[in-house]
Amino acid sequence: MNNIPPFDLTRQYELIGAEIGAAVLGVLASGRYIGGSPVQNFEQQFASYIGVSECVSCNSGTDALYMALRALNIGAGDEVITTPFTFIATAEVISHIGATPVFVDIDRDTFNLDLAQLESAITPQTRAIIPVHLFGQPVDMTRLMTIARAHNLIVIEDCAQATGAEWAEQKVGSIGQIGCFSFFPTKNLGACGDGGALTTNDPTIAAQVRTLREHGMRARYIHEETGINSRLDAIQATILQIKLRHLDTWNAQRRAIADRYRQLLTSLPGVISPKELSGSYSVWNQYTTRIPSSTNSGTSASFSAPSLEILGNNHHNYRDWVRSQLQARGVSSMVYYPLPLHLQPVYQGLGYRRGQFPIAEQVCQEVLSLPMFPELLPEQQEQIVHHLKDCLVQEVVASREG
Ligand SMILES: *Cc1c(COP(=O)(O)O)cnc(C)c1O
Repeated sequence: MNNIPPFDLTRQYELIGAEIGAAVLGVLASGRYIGGSPVQNFEQQFASYIGVSECVSCNSGTDALYMALRALNIGAGDEVITTPFTFIATAEVISHIGATPVFVDIDRDTFNLDLAQLESAITPQTRAIIPVHLFGQPVDMTRLMTIARAHNLIVIEDCAQATGAEWAEQKVGSIGQIGCFSFFPTKNLGACGDGGALTTNDPTIAAQVRTLREHGMRARYIHEETGINSRLDAIQATILQIKLRHLDTWNAQRRAIADRYRQLLTSLPGVISPKELSGSYSVWNQYTTRIPSSTNSGTSASFSAPSLEILGNNHHNYRDWVRSQLQARGVSSMVYYPLPLHLQPVYQGLGYRRGQFPIAEQVCQEVLSLPMFPELLPEQQEQIVHHLKDCLVQEVVASREG
């Protein structure tokens, strides 16, 4: 059998490569590489796709988050609440602007912020919440917005992994005051390089961000504040316009793949599928399962994970062991993320301790993201689950007997 990668962009390129190639050549011939109509057109199309009045494109999802906080004048002395189970960028930008990231534990089934714990983290210093629609699954935005409104807090949605996802039939990125998107190649809408965008219905915020992304400049070479250089270039904007037309189809394919995984995995009690909330239209940037190493982890009572001794000295974590067994069978899986943010070396100064966010910490030991991309074939999914079954049962049984 051929190896199965966690992500494969070459098949998408086979589908739209010729169209992209011709469009890129057109930009090259135009002699205009920064700004211009490709960027303006993409911004308009993306705003209308998300269902907002304003889109400001930029160089990355990280820059979109950074500029969102800057535009809201959040800074030193302020607190911003977010999840400890996300990519570092979400919290990093809070630190960059001089504010303090405040973490709240997550929900085990969705991997998203536990909204039941959110209010206890709010202080007089809290200015904003950054919910992350992790792995493509939207946060319950109805509930989150109710809490935010009650405490007069701004909501910046981190939509980097959830372009096209919906909560209660509204696209993420149109529900909070600001939505931040990444067009990194492996995201649902990926460029052929870096890119990002910010969405909002607030023209003042949009104008502010347009100034920030060009060195704080409104009138030419008159700089009103300390800005940055963060632009989407014309080639990426052209590519994104083409890909945006396919996004709904690709997301529907991801949903079909997620359904098939869920069905195939019901026969493996040692592997827990992610849950989709009702009201959620998840776009499955990742299909992230949990491989628990103890029975008190929300799995069925009939399942008993192996004791770690039988895995040998080099494996302290059952999930890591399963992952290496899968790799040996040609299936590449990923661990997003092995360490929660409150335990990262960079955040030691914040004073968090191990045990403080038990769900996030546990989930980091258990998560395993299976291959997920729109072109993944049903036969490949069957192979993946077949191999996973072998890793879970036979290897363990064999080593138990031996
Ligand atoms: C990818 C990602 C980002 C950052 O986006 P870049 O375009 O890589 O800067 C931010 N938050 C989350 C949750 C992400 O997955």
